[in-house]
Amino acid sequence: MKIYLFIFVLYGAFELTPGLPDVVHIGGIFGPDDYDLELAFRYAVDRINMDRNLFPRGRLNPLIEKVSPSDSFQTAKRVCNMTEQGVAAIFGPSSRLTSSIVQSTCDTLEIPHLETRWDPKPHHRSCLLNLHPYPQSYSRALKDLLKAMQWKSFTIIYENNEGLVRLQEVLKAHGPSEYPITVRQLGEGHDHRPLLKQIQASSESHILLDCSVDKIAEILRQAKEVKMMEDYQSYVITNLDLHTVDVEEFRFGRTNITGFRMVDPQSTSLQNAVHDWQYEEVRFGRRINISPNTVRTETALMHDAVHLFARALVEMDRSHPINTSHLSCDAAEKWEHGYKLINYMKFMDRPGLTGHIRFDVYGKRVDFPLDIIELDRDGFVKTGFWDYRSGINYTRTETEKLTIISESLQNKTFIVSSRLGAPYLMEREPKGTFTGNDRYEGYSMDLIDEVSKILGFKYVFELVPDGRYGSLDPKTKKWDGLVKQLLEKKADLAICDLTITYSREQAVDFTMPFMNLGISILYSKPVKQPPNLFSFLSPLSVDVWIYMATAYLGVSVVLFVLARLTPYEWNNPHPCNPDPEELETQFNLLNCMWFAIGSLMQQGCDFLPKAVSTRMVAGMWWFFTLIMISSYTANLAAFLTVERMDVTIESAEDLAKQTKIKYGAVEGGSTAGFFKDSNFSTYQRMWSFMESARPPVFAKANSEGVERVSKGKRGYAFLMESTSIEYVVEKQCDLTQVGGLLDSKGYGIALPLNSPYRTAVSGAVLKLQEGGKLHMLKTKWWKEKQGGGLCKEEKSSSVESANELGLANVGGVFVVLISGMGAAAVVAVLEFLWNTKKVAVEDRTTFKAALQEELRFVLKCHGSTKPIQKAGAKEDSGGKSGGTGRGNSQGPYDKYGVVNKSSKSIVIPQAEYLNKK
Ligand code: GLU
Repeated sequence: MKIYLFIFVLYGAFELTPGLPDVVHIGGIFGPDDYDLELAFRYAVDRINMDRNLFPRGRLNPLIEKVSPSDSFQTAKRVCNMTEQGVAAIFGPSSRLTSSIVQSTCDTLEIPHLETRWDPKPHHRSCLLNLHPYPQSYSRALKDLLKAMQWKSFTIIYENNEGLVRLQEVLKAHGPSEYPITVRQLGEGHDHRPLLKQIQASSESHILLDCSVDKIAEILRQAKEVKMMEDYQSYVITNLDLHTVDVEEFRFGRTNITGFRMVDPQSTSLQNAVHDWQYEEVRFGRRINISPNTVRTETALMHDAVHLFARALVEMDRSHPINTSHLSCDAAEKWEHGYKLINYMKFMDRPGLTGHIRFDVYGKRVDFPLDIIELDRDGFVKTGFWDYRSGINYTRTETEKLTIISESLQNKTFIVSSRLGAPYLMEREPKGTFTGNDRYEGYSMDLIDEVSKILGFKYVFELVPDGRYGSLDPKTKKWDGLVKQLLEKKADLAICDLTITYSREQAVDFTMPFMNLGISILYSKPVKQPPNLFSFLSPLSVDVWIYMATAYLGVSVVLFVLARLTPYEWNNPHPCNPDPEELETQFNLLNCMWFAIGSLMQQGCDFLPKAVSTRMVAGMWWFFTLIMISSYTANLAAFLTVERMDVTIESAEDLAKQTKIKYGAVEGGSTAGFFKDSNFSTYQRMWSFMESARPPVFAKANSEGVERVSKGKRGYAFLMESTSIEYVVEKQCDLTQVGGLLDSKGYGIALPLNSPYRTAVSGAVLKLQEGGKLHMLKTKWWKEKQGGGLCKEEKSSSVESANELGLANVGGVFVVLISGMGAAAVVAVLEFLWNTKKVAVEDRTTFKAALQEELRFVLKCHGSTKPIQKAGAKEDSGGKSGGTGRGNSQGPYDKYGVVNKSSKSIVIPQAEYLNKK
């Protein structure tokens, strides 16, 4: 044996350099059903043998063994048969059970072993090279795909534990803080409907399916039966043979099915190969129905493996001549070129049917390209690719995607969920006479109608059963209202005054906002106070009036005292007499008060101070009155024109500061949510107030809140969205918006999460906005319909009458005047009676007679002189003149114009005056 070997080596070294023998045996081990693998193996060998550029000398001879996938003993025997014939490499098998015996034999004899099967637990065998993507790298590709598809929560359905290896990166990437993912295993048997129904009940729409290729179609079919193949469901299928599945019945469905593939049916090399395989099929009389679209990954990998081996063999032979050896399993001999050949293959970098073939130093295929495929009307189509360095790259443009979606929208009927609430959706009057969409009208209806015209879909409006907008119950973690309808896929669109909020955005998708708004306060208009008869007193407060009266008296007294003190206010009563008996001053107390009141009333007086001190008092008083009267006049104008309102609130801060006026919002709405989640202390205080208020301050709908404000007699304010306030104040003129906006947000049309139609609907909303249609719709429903614009006229009429002063405003002045007149009349009557009494005493007649005489004179009403009757002259006069001037004949002044003692002037003797001087 050794001698033969020696001769063979010598022969190789000297005679046939380089040393490949004419026939190089290579072994292929296949299962009884692996026709396609065998076909690919044979065809690859034939191709190589035919192509002298590829294999310049000799030829490859395939030694094919068919063994049962579970029969390790038989497999071991066949492998040893092969090695004894002198094989340069062994390909296969694809069975996990028999593969290990082949691996250990090859390792012992150092014969290259090439595999193409999915190996969940790759062993680092020195002689093994597996062309199948390395599990961890494929797992990374899956992780990248889910990330690119923005799947937040999803359910994994897997068949066996080996499949979980494919998902390890996906599971690892999902942190504890993210949405939970559910992992479920397919049960035994063929009926997976119970499992799928459970998933459907959980409202899950993202499924990651990991199972063998022959189960995929059946699972999808059952999913369709349990309504798990609708618009919003999306499947990622991990099997690399997904493209071979018959998806004819799902092509026109609305479900997104995505996966990876390694082979490209469009590539010429694959088409050529398939063409040859079809020929081989005929030649061997076997029908395996192979076509470019049904080539399994493993089949293509087998083709690539043989080519890789042949290329490495030729390359190595050039530098290190190779010969094959007949090796016995029992003798445990080794093939000297085995390792080297394996290393050559590891460092090869060449294209194949499964993309570029590269290995890392450990022989793992980590760097491989994958096509992303999605199911559409034409079957599976490539929408992008993944590679080790750049990750996911989509090749479909946005426009292409939009076109596909727009096509799918044609003639589709959307269920639009909404709730009643003016002016967004109202029941058309008379109620009960209409059917279908005609039952309703409003802004939402018109908006959806416009969008549908642009996108070409049909729609059916349905009211949400609980009539709520959509809020998350923190305990049950369940949504209600419109959001619930979308989550349960009972509606395709939801529209109303639905605010786009962060929490809702996690559960559903929103389009671009179609209306912008903010929270504000709806409150009753201030009640007008009835005009006050004494409103002329309003410009100055009561205190000021009292102070003014005190100041007036004080100044009068000060003036009186100072005038007595100063010598310059004492005058000669008889200027012609240089040596008067007495001096006099005008500033007795009454005159001082007269002077002060004259100045205060801006009228002046017939006597004025002469001394510096008294002039200073007068000057100061005049200054005081100037300022006071000017301020009074200025303020009076404002007070009389502005209608006095009762106490009111002007902002949210004002509301927060008080507890008398209650305030609330729509229960479970975004406004309530705003206060609940706010970090701002004022709003937090307002939220605690609202929460603790009894009776409750929350309303079921805006209409309820509006009614409460309207009937609340300014005891209730409603926190409401500005657009809705705008609508209300157009019709209910007793209500008004108080203060500005507390935040800024928008209403959007909601769709189920990851709805394929979001971009299209958003685009239509934008189009309507840019075309001014949204503005027109708003004007229609806010100002023109439903009694809008009612309060405009009221506003303008109140402006016109604002400057008019009615009697009601200034009546008080008249009252004062009349009262003054009355008082003066009373004083005059008293003076008259007093004088009459004096006359009666002096004339020694009766009071009655004197009164008659005086009255006669008064009632005569003509004559401007009044004769002074001396005592006893009565008879002379014969009663010609009516009345007497006696009462006043003395008057306050004597014939020189000097004030008498009886008058209130003060006269002092000159000696005293001079002494004082
Ligand atoms: N638009 C609000 C929402 O979507 C409801 C009304 C409100 O909260 O003021 O929840």
